[in-house]
Amino acid sequence: MVLFSTLSFAQKKTNFVVVIDAGHGGKDAGARGVADLEKNIALDVVLRFGAMIEKNHPDVKVVYTRKTDVFLELWERTQISNNNKANLFISIHCNSATNSSATGTETFVMGLNKMNQTDEVSRRENSVVFLEKDQEKYEKFNPNDPEAVIAFEIMNAAYKEQSIRFADLVEKSFVNKQGRKSRGVKQANFHVLRGNASPSVLVELGFISNYEEGTYLASDAGKQASTEAIYAAFKEYKKEFDRRSGIVSTDEKPKPVKVAEKPLEGKSLKVKFLETTLKYSISSPQLKGLTDVEIVQDGSKYVYYYGNTNLQSRADELLSVVKRKGFTKASIVEFDLNKRLDGQKNYRVLFMTSNKKYKDRDDRFNGLSNVLRVKSGGMFNYYFGTDKTLDSAQKTLEAVQKKGFRNAFVVTFNGEEPL
Ligand SMILES: [Zn+2]
Repeated sequence: MVLFSTLSFAQKKTNFVVVIDAGHGGKDAGARGVADLEKNIALDVVLRFGAMIEKNHPDVKVVYTRKTDVFLELWERTQISNNNKANLFISIHCNSATNSSATGTETFVMGLNKMNQTDEVSRRENSVVFLEKDQEKYEKFNPNDPEAVIAFEIMNAAYKEQSIRFADLVEKSFVNKQGRKSRGVKQANFHVLRGNASPSVLVELGFISNYEEGTYLASDAGKQASTEAIYAAFKEYKKEFDRRSGIVSTDEKPKPVKVAEKPLEGKSLKVKFLETTLKYSISSPQLKGLTDVEIVQDGSKYVYYYGNTNLQSRADELLSVVKRKGFTKASIVEFDLNKRLDGQKNYRVLFMTSNKKYKDRDDRFNGLSNVLRVKSGGMFNYYFGTDKTLDSAQKTLEAVQKKGFRNAFVVTFNGEEPL
């Protein structure tokens, strides 16, 4: 049995070795997040990532520096990479900051930059050497010694361009595929990257010290989404590698021509992703970075919609974006744009709430006139417009938002009473 499986493995021709490194491990927990330790999140993502490559790329050999919760010294990780003649080394980590509002992904390449804010990250990620037996290994390299720096730069130059290329693909993938916030590609002096004889990056998945991001990254959805983002970057990088090596990948065959999709007439598709009695502002973390959000008040509830399209395929894409953000119960809702509300019903745009009573045409209304003031629970709500169809209500909303009321939203009325 053993012989057979070894043989069948050997028959797969590999032309690329990727070494994936889950940061920290064992007695070195890494950063302590709001929901989990850095070492656990990093390992989980690495195992998912490795399995995804193994499944889709039989020509890639995946080497893990660790597959369990064990302690590894930083030089051991480099040694594993060099012994396996890696074509790419990827170290996975999570960020942490004393400022709990810090969020976003960032990917590092090795570089000896001047003192700047990234030194805080490298200091933290390098600090594990104090748990190691032989700290001298790292002290041999002195970033202030010009000769050592020149020797390093010569070695690093060979891999730097490709390291930056992969780092750039990772950050773009986080933004374009997952809607995450990117802090960009940076360079810093990381022990775990310095000795690698291959393009090498260190990915910080996000800040586990931040409540929202830390909870997300510890969740199944967050870990899966992060893995998929890095995998998409890997896939593209591998394709470029193959192209340089003269290999044509199978998915580059001409694709069948798609028939142009017919837009739905007079209809609009939106993704309903949240229904709650709480009113969140557009920039609120509860909306998980979704930007194109519309909020509709329905009685005592607020309904949150994402996107607006008349193409079914686009609506499906929007739905998967929202689901990846963790709104698993989201669904597509179809609106009849030209359907008129019956009787006295109408749509109005709520653009301001204040404890002060303003007259119509107040300067604070930024030029909006015929404003309806409705007293509610000791506060005054100010509404603009009266529309009978959603189509025109949406146009009114856009006009109001352009006046600077970015958090305005549509409310259904019966006459002059909110429903
Ligand atoms: Zn780390």
